[in-house]
Amino acid sequence: MIVKIETNCESYRNELEEMVRAFSPYLTLGEAGISVRADLLIEEDMAITDIKSPEYGKISREYPLDDDLSELYLKRYLKRYLKRDLYDYFSAMTAVNLSYGSLTGIRPTKLLYELIDEGKGRNELVDFFRVSPSKADLIAEIVNVQKGVIGTETEKADWFVNIPFCPSRCHYCSFLSEVIRPKKSNLPAYVDALIRDITCVPRSKPRRAIYIGGGTPTSLDEKQLDAVLSAIDAEGEEFTVEAGRPETLTAEKLAVMRDRHVTRVSVNPQTFKQETLDLIGRKHTVEDIYRAYRLVRDAGHFDVNMDLITMLPGESFEDLKRSIDIAIDLDPENITVHSLSIKRGSIFAETKYDNSSDGLAERMSDYAREALEKAGYRPYYMYRQKNTSGRLENIGYAKPDKVCKYNIDIMEETHDIYASGAGAISKRLFGNGRIERLAEVKEIKGYLERIDEMILKKKDFFRD
Ligand code: SF4
Repeated sequence: MIVKIETNCESYRNELEEMVRAFSPYLTLGEAGISVRADLLIEEDMAITDIKSPEYGKISREYPLDDDLSELYLKRYLKRYLKRDLYDYFSAMTAVNLSYGSLTGIRPTKLLYELIDEGKGRNELVDFFRVSPSKADLIAEIVNVQKGVIGTETEKADWFVNIPFCPSRCHYCSFLSEVIRPKKSNLPAYVDALIRDITCVPRSKPRRAIYIGGGTPTSLDEKQLDAVLSAIDAEGEEFTVEAGRPETLTAEKLAVMRDRHVTRVSVNPQTFKQETLDLIGRKHTVEDIYRAYRLVRDAGHFDVNMDLITMLPGESFEDLKRSIDIAIDLDPENITVHSLSIKRGSIFAETKYDNSSDGLAERMSDYAREALEKAGYRPYYMYRQKNTSGRLENIGYAKPDKVCKYNIDIMEETHDIYASGAGAISKRLFGNGRIERLAEVKEIKGYLERIDEMILKKKDFFRD
């Protein structure tokens, strides 16, 4: 069905249209479609939602408004009422219930923290927001696992360093990552600029966690890696380096990382099926994954994360099950399970790859959760992206006491972030939910040309 939204709340238009997209493929946005009016009326101490279309009738509900509500809470509640009732309307139109109900544009765990502050909790996710009981339990469990880590050491800041270079381009990737060319590579110039970026900006807060991502940071050779890590100069903090592409990992690079106090390494299989790796442009073998994992374990010392993706092209439930089971047998400290997302700018988006699932994505995700929990992992952070199969989520699982603080901090937005590198985004928190961000130039060439300007801007941004 094609649907067009009309409303007297233009400031909510994006969110109301997002609700239509949430019901894809059952609903699509289009000017020539059924006209659904979603209005919000305020009468004395009452908010009234009014959702109607000539074809599907009307839902209208009244919500008493408390006199003492601050402007922040009033806005928050009005938006919740209108979105939830529009969700109910679409759910009745399509006879479809979404597992995350009316949640769009907000991280589920962040919402639960807000609800807890309001004196409510997990049941409100089900009763008001229409989240399925199983997803509400998942969100509540993550909030529970985060206890003792979230919001601690707020006098400290996290560090992020971006290395946007990879051996080849994965077909689902939308990052601006440069494929490494033996000649004419920007990598040496990038390393020089990055080291200036890391060392020239005064950072007044002590460090809590450091994360080097990308891209594939282990695309750097040993000397380059050592130069970047020594510029960071870690002193015992949680310190992650993504070695996402297993073919880039060597014993020498691991020795550099150990000497420079890296504590956690990501080795990302995505799948243990060779045909799929070939199909998605990974350009490495399953044997490379085992080899890289053995190298990290032989080096001792590091916690390991492994990323897997559900709904990769051509994969059956059995393929995904096998990959999850192999990852569990390998016994890394963390396993992160992503739902395939079709991102703008990726090869999958360009080739219009269809990741709709008809229930398969849900079965895969349910299996992953069940098997991982049975093996002693617990979900500790989650986020949702647009255009994922089954509109599902990405979930990080950890063995007890092995959560990655950086991942929790970045998702829940609890700490300042000092970020360096092309496209990296620094953040400052000012209390009351106010967050300011400073993004560096995304393209590598632009970053190299404008590094001096970026450093000055960042010095200013972090000035007290
Ligand atoms: S390794 Fe990561 S950053 Fe590099 S192309 Fe693949 S998905 Fe993108």
